[in-house]
Amino acid sequence: MALTAPMMWVDGAMVSSSDATLPLLAHATQRGSLVFDLGSFNATARGPALFRPQDHVARFLRSCRVVGLQIEPDADALLTAAVKVVATSGEQHGWVRWCAFFAAAQPDLLPRSSRAQVAVAVQTPEDPPRQKPLRVGTFDDARKAAPEALDPGVKAAAAYLGPMLARRRAQAAGYDDVVLIDCEGNIAEPPVANVFAVVDGALWTPPSRYVLPGITRQSVLELGRYEGLEVREEPLSQQSFASADEVFFSGTQLPIAAVESVNGKAVKQAPGPITERIRHRLSQVQAGEDPAFRHWLLPV
Ligand code: PMP
Repeated sequence: MALTAPMMWVDGAMVSSSDATLPLLAHATQRGSLVFDLGSFNATARGPALFRPQDHVARFLRSCRVVGLQIEPDADALLTAAVKVVATSGEQHGWVRWCAFFAAAQPDLLPRSSRAQVAVAVQTPEDPPRQKPLRVGTFDDARKAAPEALDPGVKAAAAYLGPMLARRRAQAAGYDDVVLIDCEGNIAEPPVANVFAVVDGALWTPPSRYVLPGITRQSVLELGRYEGLEVREEPLSQQSFASADEVFFSGTQLPIAAVESVNGKAVKQAPGPITERIRHRLSQVQAGEDPAFRHWLLPV
């Protein structure tokens, strides 16, 4: 759960978040065409710092392009807006959400104009981070949309409906979350995170063809290589996944969450030593305590 800061940035101006509303009949709401990206900022000795915001902005601009939303601000303006909303919030840790949307009420499937509005908001955690490892389930018919139907790299609101229903189904079956299967029957990703498995000492994650190229995922891959681990972006079969030595999720909101069981069967170690190593290193990096990766931070 997250709370929204009192002020947000909308089309170049700081406005009260409670005034930033969208018509019920907007294309964004009726068709789910809103695109967004979510990055984090964390406390460091020198104040809050955004984590890899350039990568989030690049992914956001790509989502806008694919969905056909034309927005005015460029990458620099979107970064400046992020710094501004974080500074205005006075918070040390939380998330920045960039959104682009067609606000006009229009009944047609194709919006009449490509001109879209942009909002940048800060959200803060309402609950302390979850410590308990996750129990996850898979269902052979809970699948990630095929890339031919929807580019998995696009963060559009409509893309989350199938994953939302799959999570609900998993929770009804007694799991904390679901891991979706790709169109070839291999492991894809959870609804709002990527997944890693440790198999024979190597760190595996499914290739980006079928999943969102998560910025935490990319960071785990880079930190894993830096730590001298064998890292593989290769198809992960359901069997290898179910018998992995360690399993964890990665995502901006987590950022690393250990998995204790898959389909009711205990994972050998939760959290295991590689999960802990990556989690520790990433938290040092995000706290500005790792000189080798300080370039990932943008001080506010
Ligand atoms: N996959 C999906 C579908 C997501 O929505 C997210 C969250 N943005 C992720 C993976 C993790 O990506 P990131 O590490 O950039 O938050």
